[in-house]
Amino acid sequence: MVITGRKSAVLIVFLLFILCLNANAASDDISLADFIKQNNFSFRWSPILDTGELKYGDDIFSFKPGEDFIVYNYKEKITGSGIYRDGGIIIIDGKTAETILSKSGFTSSPRPVEKESADVKPSGHRIAAIIIDPGHGGRDSGAIGRHEIDGNNYTVYEKDVVLDIALELNRRLTSAYRDKKIILTRNNDSYPSLDDRVEKANNVKLGKNEAIVFVSIHANASFNKNAKGFEVWYLPPEYRRDLLDENNADKKTKDILPILNTMLEEEFTIESILLAQNILDGLDKSIGSKDLNRGLKEETWFVVKNAKMPSVLIEVGFVSNKEESVNLSDKNYLKKITEGIYNGIKRFIDNLEMINTGGEN
Ligand SMILES: [Zn+2]
Repeated sequence: MVITGRKSAVLIVFLLFILCLNANAASDDISLADFIKQNNFSFRWSPILDTGELKYGDDIFSFKPGEDFIVYNYKEKITGSGIYRDGGIIIIDGKTAETILSKSGFTSSPRPVEKESADVKPSGHRIAAIIIDPGHGGRDSGAIGRHEIDGNNYTVYEKDVVLDIALELNRRLTSAYRDKKIILTRNNDSYPSLDDRVEKANNVKLGKNEAIVFVSIHANASFNKNAKGFEVWYLPPEYRRDLLDENNADKKTKDILPILNTMLEEEFTIESILLAQNILDGLDKSIGSKDLNRGLKEETWFVVKNAKMPSVLIEVGFVSNKEESVNLSDKNYLKKITEGIYNGIKRFIDNLEMINTGGEN
């Protein structure tokens, strides 16, 4: 389309008008960190999902920088949001700030600090419990490796290897995280059923914004005696859960349920993958020079599929491989494996709980 002289003059005036509007709006924009401080919101942030929540009293505002809407009390979609990033800082525009304040009953500034918000950590996303699940046990010995070295026969049982690692991991996590529940699904040669294990995990009482992770430990076996190495499994993304009940939502809010559902579900999936990746990296650093890193794997059937939490399964090595069976019978080697798993979990927790209002970690 060709723009004639007269039309272009009108267009320029119009553009200038828009620019003035924008300049006006920009003058009210403040950093989200300042907005939170000035108005005594409590705040939680998920660096993994890149989403945040502002809370005052019973009012909660969920947002994702750059999206054109925020969600009020997990129900009402408010469009026209102006929460965005500028040079790594999260900014809230004047209009959005106003909307949030009026929705949350703002009358005068400064408003009183909530009793609760004084103690609440800014990053509310917190791992409250870690379930350590040594596979098999009791009558179920798991994989068995039978070998002969220098004329002597010996046998390695998966259930013993994984219990040893789990007990040491429990010791390390318990002393490092006194504020978290560290729970073993078994601490001796017993056999909790798969249902028992999952129930133990699902029964942990969690506070608001608290999460739990499930770490199952196994050892491998193969008919191929040369097969070797460690690997970490996680649940695949297509695994679906109905986290938010549609019956609790009124009709006009149903259109945002899929968004919220996906957000929560993605959180579990992404966290499972991140936890798995961190543990794999930890193992690679501690035993990678001696053993083969078989990588990340994706699976649907293992014990944790009914656990409503980020869950991974670690295969620490092959008892059917002669060289690995020797390693897996060596307490010092098991300590190295434990150290790798421990470092991976620690890194995952540190990243997840990191307070972040500024964008870049
Ligand atoms: Zn197993």
